[in-house]
Amino acid sequence: MGKADETTGAALPAVATRDGEAFARAEILAEVSGEALQGDDLEAVLQAIVSCLHRRLPVAIASIILLDEGGTHFVQEVWAGSVDLDLPAGLPWPVEIGVAGRCARSGVAQHVPDVADDVDYVAGNGAVRCEYLVPIRHRGRLHGVLNLESTREGFFCSSTRAMFDAVALQIAGAIHIARIVRELECANRALRELSMRDGLTGVANRRSLDARLAEAWAGAAANGGALALLLVDVDRFKALNDACGHLRGDECLRELAGLCVAALAATPGLVARYGGEEFAVLLPGADLRAARRCAERLRRRVAARAIPHPASPVAAHVTVSIGVGVAFADAAIHPESLIAAADAALYAAKAAGRDRVVAQPVGSARARRPPRT
Ligand code: GH3
Ligand code: MG
Ligand code: MG
Repeated sequence: MGKADETTGAALPAVATRDGEAFARAEILAEVSGEALQGDDLEAVLQAIVSCLHRRLPVAIASIILLDEGGTHFVQEVWAGSVDLDLPAGLPWPVEIGVAGRCARSGVAQHVPDVADDVDYVAGNGAVRCEYLVPIRHRGRLHGVLNLESTREGFFCSSTRAMFDAVALQIAGAIHIARIVRELECANRALRELSMRDGLTGVANRRSLDARLAEAWAGAAANGGALALLLVDVDRFKALNDACGHLRGDECLRELAGLCVAALAATPGLVARYGGEEFAVLLPGADLRAARRCAERLRRRVAARAIPHPASPVAAHVTVSIGVGVAFADAAIHPESLIAAADAALYAAKAAGRDRVVAQPVGSARARRPPRT
């Protein structure tokens, strides 16, 4: 089939036999269907479809106008044409207006044999004589309208309209697939995000900490930089649970998570729930002095918050012990050595009486931690 021209000849091939026409329609439908299955970029798929319709048929304008979620406004139009399409009011376009709006409101295809006779018609180009609009619907959901305009009166005969009805079904399928793909991508992003967060406190979880630590360790090893990790453990938390109940304990953990985040201030780093009543604060780039300062600031802020702890042997309020591990990262050493250093320092802080900060560089020969009591 040769390229059709709006200004000449018939709608379908020059050899206008019934078989020839049917074959040409099948070809166009096959091409549209191929485009519809092409990919996940919806706008590119729709553009390819309208370009195909305009290239293969003598329509002056082929456009797909998409509705918003509520179906009250047309919000996006993709079009191809040999004459310009100039919507006087632009987008968004309320469905109360125009033949496209009538098509969306009624859900029924609209054939306008002569635009001069239709009170709803809004001219997008003065040369257009007739148009045909088909709802684009998939399983009851109306996505938009397929809009075809011709400069030749009486262009949209019943067989041509039937073909456009079939094209609209293909477009609906393409939009449905693209939306499903988009929704799946969103759901996957949300799931990935959820899988990296602690449900109770909203800060990062252990899995997230492990990933970030490995990343920061590799970065620091490449640049010869320092890296610090704070392990923050609530003092006598079991006694708080026992005295005030687990819900109050949960509330306390949420409050402490917020204080850890605040203690980071503008410093780049990560707060994670390490497990139970322990939090980890990763400080890429921090040396011993900076890390100790951050830990002291956090310890003081927790004490100043004065969260009541009726069973604390240390004070009448909640306190924390903080172990600080610091390392000059080395690709030959496992990043877990930083956790081990912070853990040993934390045990030392507990053994020394709690409510304090103890810092320990990786590789320093501190005695093995005593059992916690
Ligand atoms: P220490 O000063 O030695 O750290 O004493 P501790 O009581 O804080 O330590 P221990 O390990 O004996 O107890 C930790 C408690 O933390 C026990 C556990 O029930 C509680 N816990 C762990 N996870 C949660 C949680 O998600 N919510 C609440 N409310 N309690 C938790
Ligand atoms: Mg603990
Ligand atoms: Mg504890």
